[in-house]
Amino acid sequence: MTLTMQTTSSLALRVQEKFQDVFGGRDHLTVRSPGRVNLIGEHTDYNHGFVLPAAINKAVYMAVSRRADDELHLVSFDLDRSYTGSVKRLEPSGYHWPDYILGVVQQLQALGKPVGGFNCVFGGDIPLGSGMSSSAALECATAFALNQLFGFDLDPMTMVKLSQKAENVFVGVQCGIMDQFASMFGRKDHVIRLDCQSLEYTYFPFKTEGIRIVLLDSNVKHSLASSEYNTRRQQCEAGVRLVQQQHPEVRSLRDVSLEQLQAYVAPVDELIYRRCSYVVEENARLQSATADLLRGDIAAFGRELYGSHEGLSKKYEVSCPELDFLVGQVRGQQGVIGGRMMGGGFGGCTINLVEEEAIDALVERIAPLYRKTMNKELKVYIGQIENGTSALTDLR
Ligand code: ADP
Ligand code: MG
Repeated sequence: MTLTMQTTSSLALRVQEKFQDVFGGRDHLTVRSPGRVNLIGEHTDYNHGFVLPAAINKAVYMAVSRRADDELHLVSFDLDRSYTGSVKRLEPSGYHWPDYILGVVQQLQALGKPVGGFNCVFGGDIPLGSGMSSSAALECATAFALNQLFGFDLDPMTMVKLSQKAENVFVGVQCGIMDQFASMFGRKDHVIRLDCQSLEYTYFPFKTEGIRIVLLDSNVKHSLASSEYNTRRQQCEAGVRLVQQQHPEVRSLRDVSLEQLQAYVAPVDELIYRRCSYVVEENARLQSATADLLRGDIAAFGRELYGSHEGLSKKYEVSCPELDFLVGQVRGQQGVIGGRMMGGGFGGCTINLVEEEAIDALVERIAPLYRKTMNKELKVYIGQIENGTSALTDLR
């Protein structure tokens, strides 16, 4: 049930060996770019609020080398597929995975960076589409690798922004900046508070001896997700407009207090009030959670996670029976510090902080219950916080 991942070095080595087999030579460089989790701060990004992500010990590994011509030779180790194109003519590949790489090449070119032809092999152990942002990891790996390969001298934030833009423009997914930011800026034993308005960020210690991040994958993605996401955005904007009638200086829910919501939104529209108060409270919870970390009070931090779930489920209404079931089942269990749904909602994973020695018993109890109640298989990923995107020295 519990998926044990291969060690970093063995995966990176297999990518490098594949590179050798396909392209030969020893002149390649290898980078690692991790997936991410978000501890707290959900649906706050587009409201100009705060998020608290961290990079994890699951990553994309990418080996690249220069070519003498303008050609692109890309190999997906995991999918056992390859793609050939030219840096002079970037077109959507028609089968998705190359587009993340091509999109980054396009954004580098848009910044005036002359990307030459290159060979590339990549693979990894981030489960695709499970909410750990394998796509951002792939984009950041590409940006970092090409920056180094061609000596562009871009700073990490520029690489974050161009990776996000690659996904927006070339892949056509309107993602925010958190995923690429966390992949690039992650730091071992730290979470990062990112201010989505100013992009200022602060590291907070997350040295939690014996505690693991356990993701429980509900294995569902309800079709409501994208339409409800758009509705939530509109509801938040509607709330801001109501406050603006009295306070024209307000630009987003970031500038709004609970008192203002009570005074100007609650009397007009109860639903909008509930949505907006979740967002304002979630930002406040995140701030308390960082204070908990500074005090070393992980139990209090865990309670904020439960509070976040409660708000997402009851006020923002983006949870679903499967996610509520999974959070309900871990709550109060031996060795569980806290948990909540993670990501946009209506499926995906819950994120839980669990003492290492309690994990097996917890999974053995919940997995059959989940199967019986929801008629679905539970997937379990166990992670810990790791460094962000970096070059790997030759592992052989
Ligand atoms: P998420 O980012 O939540 O994991 P997405 O749907 O945004 O899910 O991105 C997943 C896509 O990213 C995959 O369908 C694939 O095209 C690409 N991708 C990410 N990692 C890999 C990998 N290791 N091998 C091949 N493709 C990958
Ligand atoms: Mg993604």
